[in-house]
This record gives sequence, structure tokens and C-alpha cells, in this order.
Amino acid sequence: MTVFEHAEFDSHESVQYFSDEASGLRAIVAIHSTAMGPAAGGCRWWQYVNEDAAITDALRLSRGMTYKNAIAGLPFGGGKAVILAQQGQQKPRELFKAFGQCVESLHGQYVTAADMGVTIENMRVVQKYTSYVSGLQQTNNADSGDPAPWTAYGIFLGIKAAVEKKLGTDKIKGLKIAVQGVGNVGYQLCKLLHTEGAILTVADINTANIARIQRELSVTTVNPEEILSEDVDVLSPCALGGILNSRTIPDIKAAIIAGCANNQLEVEQDGHEIAKRGILYAPDYVINAGGIINVAREYLGNSSKDQLSKEIGRIPERLSELFSIADRTGRPTHVIADEMAQSIVANAK
Ligand code: NAD
Repeated sequence: MTVFEHAEFDSHESVQYFSDEASGLRAIVAIHSTAMGPAAGGCRWWQYVNEDAAITDALRLSRGMTYKNAIAGLPFGGGKAVILAQQGQQKPRELFKAFGQCVESLHGQYVTAADMGVTIENMRVVQKYTSYVSGLQQTNNADSGDPAPWTAYGIFLGIKAAVEKKLGTDKIKGLKIAVQGVGNVGYQLCKLLHTEGAILTVADINTANIARIQRELSVTTVNPEEILSEDVDVLSPCALGGILNSRTIPDIKAAIIAGCANNQLEVEQDGHEIAKRGILYAPDYVINAGGIINVAREYLGNSSKDQLSKEIGRIPERLSELFSIADRTGRPTHVIADEMAQSIVANAK
């Protein structure tokens, strides 16, 4: 199948394949839109079942970045890089050197940052070979660097907005919240929720991440295959995309779904099914914009803590507006969010 015939192709401006034999790099950079500015979006290192799964991820994630940046009011378009991890492959320095050179060859059309499977240390290697990278500086007066805590903060505020809308309370204390994936963002989110008195249930396939959270917080742990159907108030997907689908949605007991994972809906129809079940869904790219706001402000040179807190503080306002429109019009939240984003991009064009 060619990219143009791919089900997830959405008039992406470009999709580029990179390989470097010496380091073993195989990467895809998808640029969905530069209408709002250079395409900004993270770089993911992941072992895909096949190349089609990688291209699907790159196409969907880059479109999501266009929508996320547009709704967050950032002067950036949408792009995403995926590095195809090979069986048993380590992440050598050379791999990220080669990736940095690929990003540099795009002359600023694409700005990268860390995403799943990529660490800030990896990105520091990338930074040596391109200036089109962000989400890693920590200078004296800029409170930036790792986007995960900022993403977590935005999710925390977004959960509060959803709880207020659906459950009519501004209190997190005593609410049952299930978190799928306690990696960079999920872990930080659990810390915030724990401080406010949430009753947490978590799952992760990574035993080290489970051990860390059990050491630090009071949480109940369940098997990864059980977490989505836990009897809780809020389900917070903070691992992979595509987890809200025809197989999982019928068993979800939560009143609210609000988490950081990108592309939570496997297909668009899944958003309609969630709405039909009366579950309030906080569209992923609206609620998880904290990290890209941090990355963008660092790139633009104004990422003071105050500035970031103020800007990320608008995420719950945007969600509340979206929830109200969904209520008024009887349409699902993901449809309203897509329309908002598409209209912002169309106006920019
Ligand atoms: P991460 O790799 O640090 O954490 C993901 C965690 O999910 C890992 O601990 C992993 O073991 C776990 N996991 C994977 N499959 C699982 C499964 N089936 N069941 C339970 N746990 C599972 O990644 P992250 O940076 O925390 O990002 C998490 C998600 O949020 C991703 O979808 C990412 O694209 C999205 N996101 C991240 C940021 C950010 O700032 N890091 C910003 C926006 C969106």
C-alpha cells in the first residue's frame, strides 16, 4: 500500500523515510501541516509489529499534533517522528546522532522532542547535531526541560474540569482513579492525584515502574489487562494509543476518561460509542497539551514557570468550553474538538 492510499493519510504535507546503516537507524518523519508554523511533535522509539504499524502511528500522531498545537494556540504545525526499534536493539548514541542529522536535513520544517521510549539524555545527543529540538534545556531562568511533569500537570487540571462537569464536585479527595501506565507522565500524574487524596489503582507492563510507584505512593496494583475495566470514577490512559476500541469500551465502568496517551480512540467511531455510553471523554490532544506547551515555549525562549503555569492553566478552560458545546449540541466531545482544530488551521491557511 502506498502512503497516499493509507487509511490514515490526511493530505499530510510530507512523509519521509530515513535510514542509516552504520547506526541501524530506521525512522519516519511525518509532517502533517505547517499552516500554523514549523511542524512540532515528539520522537518515539518503539518496536512496531511491522512497517505499516509504524507509518500508521506516524500519520495519526502527526495529525494529532496539528490539532493539539492549534487548540493550544501555539505557532506550530504538526509533525511526528517514529524510530523503528529492532528486536534486541539497544539505543546507542550513534542512533540519535543519525536521527539528529536527519532532523537537521529538514532545515527547521520539523522540530523534535522526546516521546515514548526516548529519554532527555537521548535528546541531548540529538541536540549536538541539530538546533531543531526542544524540551531539554534547564537554564537559570527557564523552568523547562522534560515535558512529562508539565503534561501531567495539564492532565491533573483537565481531570478536575471533567470531574466538575460530570460529577459536580471540585474535589479529587476520595475519587477512585485508574491509571494505565505509570511511566514518565503517569507517575507524575499519580503523585499529583495522590497529594489531593485520590484512591489510585495502577497497572504497567514495566515492573520497575510499578516498583517505583509502590515504593513512593499508596496505590493498588492490578494486571495490565484489568485496568481499563476497573470500577472507578476516572480512567486515565497514560500508556499506548488505540486502547479505546470496540473490545474495551463495553467493559469500561468509569464515568470519565481523561489521560495523556495520544490517539486513545482506535477509530473515530469509538468516540461515538463512548458518548453513547454516557462516559465523558476528554479528547487526548486537548488535555495532554501541557508538554508541547512547555516544549514550544522553551523553543521560543519564554518558558518561565509562571508563563507555563498560566498557559497550561487554560487547558481546563478549553475542556469546559468543549464539554458545554457537546452538552448543548448533543454531539461527542472528540467531534467538537476536531472541528475546533480544523477551523483554526483552515483560518491560518
Ligand atoms: P513512557 O514510555 O514513559 O510511559 C508509558 C508507560 O506505559 C510505560 O511505563 C510502559 O511500560 C507502560 N505501558 C505500555 N504498555 C502498557 C500496557 N499495555 N499496560 C500498562 N502499561 C503499559 O511514556 P510517557 O512519556 O509517560 O507517555 C505516555 C503516553 O502519553 C504516550 O502515549 C505519549 O505519546 C503520551 N504523551 C506524552 C507526553 C510527554 O510529555 N511525555 C506528552 C503528551 C502525550
